[in-house]
Amino acid sequence: MAKFVFVTGGVVSSLGKGITSAALGLILKRVGLNVALQKLDPYLNVDPGTMSPFQHGEVFVTDDGAETDLDLGHYERYTGISCSRKSNYTSGQIYETVIAKERRGEYLGHTVQVIPHVTDEIKAAIRGLATRDIDVVITEVGGTVGDIEGLPFLEAIRQFRFDVPAEDIIYVHLTLVPYIRAAGEMKTKPTQQSVGRLREIGIQPDVLIVRTERPMSEDMRRKISLFCNVDPHAVFEERDVEHSIYEIPVQLVKQGMDGHLAKRLGLGPRRIDLSDWERMLENIRNPEREAKIAVVGKYIRLQDSYKSIYEALAHAGISHKAKVTVDRVDSEQVEKDGAEKLLAAADGILVPGGFGARGIEGKISAIRYAREKGVPFLGICLGMQCAAIEFARNVLGMKKANSTEFDPKTKHPVIVLMDEQRRVVKMGGTMRLGAYQCALGAGTKLRAAYGTDRAYERHRHRYEFNNAMRRKFERAGMIFSGLSPDGKLVEAMELKHHPWFVCVQSHPEFKSRPLDPHPLFRDFVGAALAGRKG
Ligand code: GLN
Repeated sequence: MAKFVFVTGGVVSSLGKGITSAALGLILKRVGLNVALQKLDPYLNVDPGTMSPFQHGEVFVTDDGAETDLDLGHYERYTGISCSRKSNYTSGQIYETVIAKERRGEYLGHTVQVIPHVTDEIKAAIRGLATRDIDVVITEVGGTVGDIEGLPFLEAIRQFRFDVPAEDIIYVHLTLVPYIRAAGEMKTKPTQQSVGRLREIGIQPDVLIVRTERPMSEDMRRKISLFCNVDPHAVFEERDVEHSIYEIPVQLVKQGMDGHLAKRLGLGPRRIDLSDWERMLENIRNPEREAKIAVVGKYIRLQDSYKSIYEALAHAGISHKAKVTVDRVDSEQVEKDGAEKLLAAADGILVPGGFGARGIEGKISAIRYAREKGVPFLGICLGMQCAAIEFARNVLGMKKANSTEFDPKTKHPVIVLMDEQRRVVKMGGTMRLGAYQCALGAGTKLRAAYGTDRAYERHRHRYEFNNAMRRKFERAGMIFSGLSPDGKLVEAMELKHHPWFVCVQSHPEFKSRPLDPHPLFRDFVGAALAGRKG
């Protein structure tokens, strides 16, 4: 029987519940357990795939093709475990299932209600992860205690207490202890109120993790324990980190989180070894070199929009004992100021994925700059498509070349809608999604990076390179270094005469981990370091 850890949050959002859940995942994995992680999102969208990155940040894609919450990216990066579509449920999805059952008559004439029908469906989603090989399921409930949408989820996890033995379930609550500058004091009241709210619903947290800016005193820990009815040994501090979010698990282990969880789950003493993780942190703290990478995109203002890209760049830096400084460049600004002005200091340029025409011309100018000046370039998904447009326009002289996504009537359609997409009418979950194999061409930079002849990467797109253009591109020095195994889809391309110019149709950033940086990001940053401008 699997055990269950539930993570809720209070006081404010953006406390880092996802990172905390991921850190608990790593800790439990390293005490020898098989862990599965999951996020329950209270919003009504069926998945975040249809939401703007400005609203929701990055959409994280799993191997099995689910468009999910970006917290799953943290889960994968910390634990090294691959998530599936069972790792993310939304209210929209839960209600869709309930309503479909009702339409099929499966409730046999009963009135369909939040309790028990919706809560049963939520509990089934949680239990769905508890397969025979899994020791612990960690379920993070999105949102903040007190949100109206969150209530059915909290009610479901409250009921769970009666479905499994008491020692098989832990409620973890993450709150904030703010420092009030004017008073020169840290305040526990918001935490007390948040736990009070949770207890009104019927959930008594077993573990409190308290986000702080400054160290928490022993007195304060005792006070929180007393007012929140939580064992003082179960009150943990999660202080703002100095260098990297990957410090969190170590911070928690230093306070005995591993032992506490093991004991609480009735597991007896367990040893934890985080030495490889600590070495990785050492590399982050003591970089020997630096590379400046410009990420040129449309959603630059928001830190979360290209989350996995930024993380993958940081991982690549770790593998070179280098600090990667990311310069977030707004592609629309490139249209106004020109590439030279904004990119002159960059050792490497990356154009990430995206949708829609806004900012496209800026991305194309940035790519032209990278190609002509020999600056290492990595193009991802839309980044590859823009590289194809740039090459067609400026090398092959097809001045009006474009993707039919942006100019449906273009005379030179270098990027076109995929055949399988032509009949698609629904927006949600209908792109080419999930992991596909890619055959890597011999003697290419792509193959050199992967070190094998097959890659297995995740996709999220509707458009593809137009095969009718292949010959022209090849004759002018473009190599199609990655193809689908049947040879029909261009999955990657690179320039023959350039220090490092590689583009992929997939999203390799989703598979990069701090202990196992993605080879393409590693080689991209390696090339940036090699050609560094001093
Ligand atoms: N908009 C492009 C497409 O649908 C690229 C998608 C992406 O970058 N993820 O093909």
